[in-house]
Amino acid sequence: MSGTGARRIRVRVEGLVQGVGFRPFVCGLAGAYGVSGFVGNDPGGVFIEAEGEPSALDAFTAGLTAQAPPLALVERVSVEPAEPVGGSGFRIVASRRGEQPDGALVSPDAGTCAACLRELRDPGDRRHRYPFANCTDCGPRFTIVTGVPYDRCATTMADFEMCAACALEYGDPGDRRFHAQPVCCPACGPSLRALGADGLPAAGDPVEVAAGWLEAGRVVAIKGLGGYHLAVLAADGAAVAALRARKRRESRPFAVLAADAAAAGTLVHLEPAAERLLTGTSRPIVLAPRRRDAPVAGAVAPGARDLGVMLPYTPLHHLLAERLAVPYVLTSGNLTDEPIAYRDEEALRRLAGVADGFLVHDRRIEAPADDSLVRVFRGRELVVRRSRGYAPAPVGVPWRFPRPVLACGAQLKNTFCVARGNQAFLSQHIGDLESYETLRSFAEGVEHFCRIFGVRPAVVAHDLHPEYLSTAYARDREDVDLIAVQHHHAHIASCLAEHGHGGPVIGVAFDGLGLGADGTLWGGELLVADLVSFRRAGHLEAVPMPGGAAAVRQPWRMAAAWLDRIHGDALPGLAVVGRHREQWPAVVRMARAGLNSPLTSSAGRLFDAVAAIAGVRDVIGYEGQAAAELEARVDPGERGAYPARLIEGEPLVIAAGDLVGAAAEDVAAGVDAGRVAARFHRGLAAAVVRAVRVVGEGTGLRTAALSGGVFQNTVLLEAVVSGLERERFQVLVHSRVPPGDGGIALGQAVVAAANDRR
Ligand SMILES: [Zn+2]
Ligand SMILES: [Zn+2]
Repeated sequence: MSGTGARRIRVRVEGLVQGVGFRPFVCGLAGAYGVSGFVGNDPGGVFIEAEGEPSALDAFTAGLTAQAPPLALVERVSVEPAEPVGGSGFRIVASRRGEQPDGALVSPDAGTCAACLRELRDPGDRRHRYPFANCTDCGPRFTIVTGVPYDRCATTMADFEMCAACALEYGDPGDRRFHAQPVCCPACGPSLRALGADGLPAAGDPVEVAAGWLEAGRVVAIKGLGGYHLAVLAADGAAVAALRARKRRESRPFAVLAADAAAAGTLVHLEPAAERLLTGTSRPIVLAPRRRDAPVAGAVAPGARDLGVMLPYTPLHHLLAERLAVPYVLTSGNLTDEPIAYRDEEALRRLAGVADGFLVHDRRIEAPADDSLVRVFRGRELVVRRSRGYAPAPVGVPWRFPRPVLACGAQLKNTFCVARGNQAFLSQHIGDLESYETLRSFAEGVEHFCRIFGVRPAVVAHDLHPEYLSTAYARDREDVDLIAVQHHHAHIASCLAEHGHGGPVIGVAFDGLGLGADGTLWGGELLVADLVSFRRAGHLEAVPMPGGAAAVRQPWRMAAAWLDRIHGDALPGLAVVGRHREQWPAVVRMARAGLNSPLTSSAGRLFDAVAAIAGVRDVIGYEGQAAAELEARVDPGERGAYPARLIEGEPLVIAAGDLVGAAAEDVAAGVDAGRVAARFHRGLAAAVVRAVRVVGEGTGLRTAALSGGVFQNTVLLEAVVSGLERERFQVLVHSRVPPGDGGIALGQAVVAAANDRR
């Protein structure tokens, strides 16, 4: 239809444009503007040739970005002229394969859309109650992708041949399933089965069978999008307790799935931002203040002020939620400290003895992905665990990675990062690299990312700590340049990367532990940092950690170390001393002699000491538990704050012992834990603000960046941010990248690139 005056252009679209209905969208757009030509996927993104009147082509090109489908993320559109060839119509052509994908992106999994949900509930629809319905706007993506370009044959849906009806939808440009790669129906797609504890099929409708099991108080393993979950009814105290026991002394809070936002509102107080996150396509677990009358057993989240809630994100979860009509616990299918189970045989083996029954299906999961976890801070998302629904969307940075980078991350809450061009791909949550299973999951994940993003790492970044398994893995890679990045420098760099800020800034990195440049264990650091390097400008006062790792598991040991430093043998009468009367002298001797007692300036360990002194927690079941419970106890009405001195010097030292001493005095005087917790948080925040001010006066810097797992604590975060704002600092805080060790790989990647550029 191209008459005289027609022009032809060759267009490249880069970004998150595969698996999101982009090609059908381009067809529709071409139709709307009377443009002829074709569109296809290649390893770099989407290629287009379009021919038409100049004004139509301009409108078409502008529409590629302005009108893109909901799940697409257009990063770049480049246009070059071509020779007109005439012809009519616009079609999708075969994907072009190549050796080295450069810009193609795999999108994250997306929760079931409203249109698919309507079909699921419509008795007249051929996908009525079909647990695997999806379309171009929703469904599995990252977890089923085996390679690029994103086509059905490069997903685990290659196992299923489309029926004629599905093929019609797939091929019809007017259909909302046009080129939806995982399209399927009951006639041709995956199917559901209920299996008993013995692995034998149970008779009846699988959803009905599983619902019956749950109502009878059983533990049911459910195969979801990124792996197996374990479920029990949230109000069933005995079932929740059984689940905890069978997961082997699991003490972490469980998340609860509610049928819809209204049902979630009976569990937690939802501010508008939390509700937006809850109902968005990423479908994370949202941490929100638990309602007093929430119909949930106490054992679901003991000691927590907040409750993690989520909404169904697959048709299967919807069907089960609607059938049960009450919330159910949905927690990763694993034993404590193991990665989430996702391969069928392995899952059935590992979860035998944990689950009383299985609700499974035959669509393979290629990449495991745990549920993501978010909080709300000042009306914005604060991602705590970035996994399903988020990974592997790129984190765009305004700098280029001169050579492809692999950053191996930390030891705990590991994620890794591969980067090329100006894109960094932070992996899904891998877990604590402390078992063979997790290490295998890490290594497989790295290979998978390198394959789907076409990255052959030339630079490999790792933590300074020689004993991290991620460090050992990095050092094992051949033919690469290794760059070691200090833990807290990586934290601050991850925050800078998220904001596209090159530094220098005053970074406050508060976390559990990370190896310092001086060989001691850091974790309460003020760094003057840019992407290339840092200087330790200040830190929390350091104390011995009696027993090393034992002190991490037993916060009361940190209380012993601090109280001994402050009071020596003249200990005040404190309950924490009484509770550990037998071991106390030996632990104190160990600390004094420096025997197996590494020095640490860790903020996390400081929280531990105060939690033990306040009677909140002496021994933990998971990392960060004492600090989380101390935060949960904060009395919001309390306005007092413990004073802490700043000890001038290079580096500056925050006299954290002042805070501990004041807390101990209050506890001895009978002040309740809620007020002690509040005064401690407020006092620590005030000391941090004063320390940043001093560093700011010395350096002239007016921007602060807050990072490290301790800043998941929104009480502390709010107090520090508002204090710094009163001092007229610009404050950078995390949002889409976790402040904890789950974000560290991104920081390592940008530090490695900054040093590679030099
Ligand atoms: Zn849909
Ligand atoms: Zn079909």
